[in-house]
Order: sequence, then structure tokens, then C-alpha cells
Amino acid sequence: MEKIGIMGGTFDPIHYGHLVAAEMARSEFNLSKVLFIPTGIPPHKDRLDISVGKSRLEMVERAIKDNPAFECSAMEIERQGPSYTVETLRLLSKIWPEHELYFITGTDALREIFSWREAEEILTMIQFIGAARPGFDAKDFLQCVRHDHPEIVDKIHYLEVPALAISSTDIRMRVKQQKPIRYLLPEAVRLFIEQKNLYR
Ligand code: ATP
Ligand code: MG
Repeated sequence: MEKIGIMGGTFDPIHYGHLVAAEMARSEFNLSKVLFIPTGIPPHKDRLDISVGKSRLEMVERAIKDNPAFECSAMEIERQGPSYTVETLRLLSKIWPEHELYFITGTDALREIFSWREAEEILTMIQFIGAARPGFDAKDFLQCVRHDHPEIVDKIHYLEVPALAISSTDIRMRVKQQKPIRYLLPEAVRLFIEQKNLYR
């Protein structure tokens, strides 16, 4: 069965932490491609100054251009109302009924999945790959899954990746403070931020 990776995120902006997690997951789990889906209005974000969807999508497009296995979709930013992953996954399962879907997250997001809307439903549809993220240990979470939810243990995979302590929050702060962001994200994304005067 063909396997497809899905990487959801605000991507404000996309950075090498996202790209490394997606690429390692692709190779480790034999995914035929990874689909990046920038969120519309993220239900869990209380930031009011989130960049418009169009800019976040363009940054993702620029970042993934050189990788033939990476694609992106505007489905969430084009949808009205808050972005619930469960709705996105229902649509994707209709588009790809014969495929196995893997949702790629960092360990910070992985630890929160039970709080997602219709979490149980989500876990019947897809599998999760949690990529190691510095500062977010997943041991306790995985232990808790083994203990409290043994039925889904084989749907949650932990993936060791070269850990990058990069976050979009830190990048936005650096721009604001006029500190460098070069080498934290693809150069084409850095130039876009500069051209559009984002995060100032
Ligand atoms: P913000 O600081 O605005 O929350 P972020 O850097 O956490 O941004 P998101 O868009 O929130 O990026 O994350 C999208 C997905 O990518 C999440 O599943 C998150 O866990 C994962 N991710 C982000 N940064 C990393 C990283 N450095 N290593 C591994 N996974 C990451
Ligand atoms: Mg985040």
C-alpha cells in the first residue's frame, strides 16, 4: 500500500526543523511523498498577528521547491472557519482511499494529540510519526499511551531525527530584534520575509 506523509503546521515561517522532520520521516517510513498543509485559522493558536495564509503558503512553496517528494496544499487556508485536522483527514481519505496516511508532528505536538477534536476518530484513520524536538521529551507520553491506550500503540511512532532547536516563534523574534535568521531556514524563505517586511 502506498504511504503518504502529511505535515500540518502554521509555518509562520517554515524552517529547517519542519523540513528535516519531513525528510527523515519520508525516508524512514518509505513515504511516496509528504504533503505540507499550512493551517487556516489554527484552533490552538492564540496569536492574533499570524501572517496571512497566502504568505505562509508561498514560504512553504519556496522551501520545498527542490524536493520532488514534497508538495503543499492550500486546502486549509482556503477553507472557512478554524482548521480542524479531522476535517482535513476526512477529505484526504476520500481523495486517497487506498493509501496509508501518516501525520508527521514534532514531539511537542504529538504530546497534545489527545486534546485534538475527535482524536479517537483521527486515530482510526491515520498513523502518527512524532519527530524528536529539543525540549519536548516524548518518553512519558509514549509510556502513557502504552499503559492507557494499548489499542493504538502501533499507530504512534517515535522518530529520532537530528534535533534542531529551531522554532518559528524564535525566528519571528529574531527578525523583530534585527538578529540574523540566515541558516535557520531556506534562503528563499528568508528573502521573502525581507521583501514582504514580515515580523517587523
Ligand atoms: P511556533 O513557534 O509558531 O509554534 P513552530 O516552530 O512550532 O512554530 P509549527 O508550525 O507550530 O512550527 O509546527 C508545525 C509542526 O512541525 C508541528 O508538528 C511541530 O511539532 C513540528 N516542528 C516544528 N519545529 C520543529 C523542530 N525544530 N523539530 C521537529 N519538529 C518540529
Ligand atoms: Mg508550534
